[in-house]
Amino acid sequence: MDMPTAYRSRLIDAGLLIPTGVDGLFGRSGTFESIYDGVDQAVTAVGAGAGAEVMRFPPAMAQATFEKTGYMKNFPHFAGTVHCFCGDERSHQKLIGRMDRGETWTDEQEPADLVLTPAACYAVYPVLAKRGPLGDGGHMVDVSSYCFRHEPSQEPTRMQLFRMREYVRIGTEAQVIDFRGSWIERGKAFADALALPYEVDVANDPFFGRAGKFMASSQREQALKFELLIPVNDGAGPTACLSFNYHQTYFGDNWDIRTPDGAPAHTACIAFGMERIVLALFKHHGFDVAAWPAEVRSALALR
Ligand code: ATP
Ligand code: ZN
Repeated sequence: MDMPTAYRSRLIDAGLLIPTGVDGLFGRSGTFESIYDGVDQAVTAVGAGAGAEVMRFPPAMAQATFEKTGYMKNFPHFAGTVHCFCGDERSHQKLIGRMDRGETWTDEQEPADLVLTPAACYAVYPVLAKRGPLGDGGHMVDVSSYCFRHEPSQEPTRMQLFRMREYVRIGTEAQVIDFRGSWIERGKAFADALALPYEVDVANDPFFGRAGKFMASSQREQALKFELLIPVNDGAGPTACLSFNYHQTYFGDNWDIRTPDGAPAHTACIAFGMERIVLALFKHHGFDVAAWPAEVRSALALR
């Protein structure tokens, strides 16, 4: 297990993050949330004029939808499923008895057909698939949800439950490649407006197992994923605060989403790690929000 970082302790001491006793599971203070709201409206401003359809989802999705994303093939170590008690009174007594004796009791529950959402954009593809073929312009969605990943850590930037806001582009290869290129520039302008230092670099997802190593290097070779990285944690490398992902026709094929000429749709998403951006702001501008640079306060619409 990694060591607690000094930044984590400072955030907790200042009351910005409220520890729960579980690594990567925090409450947030009013001040933290006010900055979160500022970042949220700054992300909305990034998409101004793009005509994105707004969708907001709860932090869980149908098990069948989750299965179709292929997540268990690539990231089984991150997934969290929801289980509930569905038994009768006798099995309830059994469960309570096991609980009282400090024994394992969760296996008295059954799957609730729900899985915690691992990435906000996963909820969008089945919705679009149901609508039939895309129009000539393709489509763009502004989506967000709480996301779960079982990756307990002492780094405050690596949470188990965090909010992700994404712009998702669905269309032809040309439309989607153009989107990713130009929105990397929008992402840089966003970080500039918040006066945050950053670098943009090619990246890979943390695919599981030996086959995963191959997937990761192939993803890098094809430059399918870029990240905007900001130094946040002490003594560690910079943290991915925005990701720019090109999925080629992976979701178009999985969900049978088609362009007007019947070809499988290409998709890409720009994901904003909302808590990470807030933590980067506190790191670089300090805990006294009133003393933040005027242009940053203005970009966050702080009054
Ligand atoms: P990392 O490389 O740091 O594990 P990732 O590449 O897995 O991140 P994505 O899957 O691209 O991240 O997720 C989109 C965005 O969500 C990331 O750019 C990041 O800002 C945010 N994010 C991902 N994992 C976490 C986490 N555990 N806690 C907080 N934010 C996260
Ligand atoms: Zn996405």
